[in-house]
Amino acid sequence: MTLTPAYETAQQLLEQLQAEILQHFYHARELPIFPNVSSSEVRTHLAAFDFSEPLPLMQVLGESVAALRKYTVHITHPGYMGLFNPAVSFSSVLADALISLYNPQLAAWSHSPWANEMEQHTLRYIGGKLGMAVDENFSASYTAGGSEANHSALLAALAHAYPEYVTEGLAAIGVRPVVYVSEQAHNSFDKVCKHTGLGTRALRTVPTTPDLKLDVDALRQMMQADRAAGYTPLMVVGTAGTTAAGIIDPLPELALLCNSENLWLHVDAAWAGVVAFHDEYRTLLQGIADADSITVDAHKWLSVPYGAGMFFTRHRSAVDVAFGVTASYMPPSPADIVNPFQTTLHWSRRCIGLKVFFTLCEWGEAGLAELVARKMQLGERLRAQLTESGWQFLNRTALPVVCFTHPKLEDGATTRQQVLQDLYALGDVWISEAALDPKGNTRCLRACITNYKTTEAEVDTLVRQLNGLIEKM
Ligand SMILES: *Cc1c(COP(=O)(O)O)cnc(C)c1O
Repeated sequence: MTLTPAYETAQQLLEQLQAEILQHFYHARELPIFPNVSSSEVRTHLAAFDFSEPLPLMQVLGESVAALRKYTVHITHPGYMGLFNPAVSFSSVLADALISLYNPQLAAWSHSPWANEMEQHTLRYIGGKLGMAVDENFSASYTAGGSEANHSALLAALAHAYPEYVTEGLAAIGVRPVVYVSEQAHNSFDKVCKHTGLGTRALRTVPTTPDLKLDVDALRQMMQADRAAGYTPLMVVGTAGTTAAGIIDPLPELALLCNSENLWLHVDAAWAGVVAFHDEYRTLLQGIADADSITVDAHKWLSVPYGAGMFFTRHRSAVDVAFGVTASYMPPSPADIVNPFQTTLHWSRRCIGLKVFFTLCEWGEAGLAELVARKMQLGERLRAQLTESGWQFLNRTALPVVCFTHPKLEDGATTRQQVLQDLYALGDVWISEAALDPKGNTRCLRACITNYKTTEAEVDTLVRQLNGLIEKM
């Protein structure tokens, strides 16, 4: 048996793959968005593959394509208006294939000079759009996602405030650091607190004002109480675009507070950071440039495949303390470069940035601004149409995520789950359900329009179908 397919076989496989890429990229809308499938059905399908004998790759390709079509929520479908999941740009698919082929090793600069510099080039560009000073203190890296970027932020904040922590351990720093997030912040901070050794009790959940923004007065009081009780505030997280409701915390006020109290301000802009590509909408993020660190995901609104998070900070020295390591077997490198194995949680890793590079090249500044503006406008259209047909929306944000309900859903005549199941059965659009308070009492339907393939037609279909379902109830 040979481990490389014959040249002609490889050609046929590539033709088949090409046909599938074109089919899916241009015709995803013909698929039902939502699979109706049980775990046993999927496992039965997989049981046929026991690896006892080699299988022809054409068969494996064909069966995997069929399974992906049938057993996937199609987030690349234009009618997917669900969670912060992207339809992927065409160029990013090309880029990812190219990276699989060359498999550049990004751990050390010297193994992949172009790929490493290309990543830094894109990160400096995006950091600049966010308003950061791209100078000798600037540091940025690709991560697996927003969760890892948030994790990196807390590690950097700890290393900045307590450099001895990296050698002596948390127990030796003599204080109990605490981290503040709003009730609406992403739950990755629970994991981050576990993984950094601070523990989840070090995470303080700050209440929000009625508009769902972090309540800065409450934050001040909590810090005071914590200090009195022997804790030491370390980091405050402002979210720019909360996961449930797309709310932007009062970043300028948080920046002032953190500056005067000497605390690390992290801005989690995993989803909404992309509005920085638009000259006017960028002002929504006002204050972000004063953050000590920022999270933005490229695998959300920026429309590249998983996993592509980005971590930015203006404390290069803290990154060096937090992640620095030396190893005699790693190749030597010039002094003016970044070695990802010394500045991130990873060692060996895939090149993440090429799909971003391709997308920035494919769309250019005008295309990126349009990516933002078109979705903001569709969000407005959805809000207007829902209001017109008697729905009420519950989140005040300019961003294109709409949390809404209907009097019929509130008086108990019917349930959101029923509406959603009936909507999914129609198969044209997909939205989710969300809770707007930590106890889950204020529940609503939630539509997010950052899929770049979504148009007026899908928004109109969503409202028409929802109205039809509510009338029937
Ligand atoms: C999506 C999201 C995260 C988590 O990012 P992953 O890429 O899923 O790891 C964190 N914070 C916010 C605000 C998010 O929207």
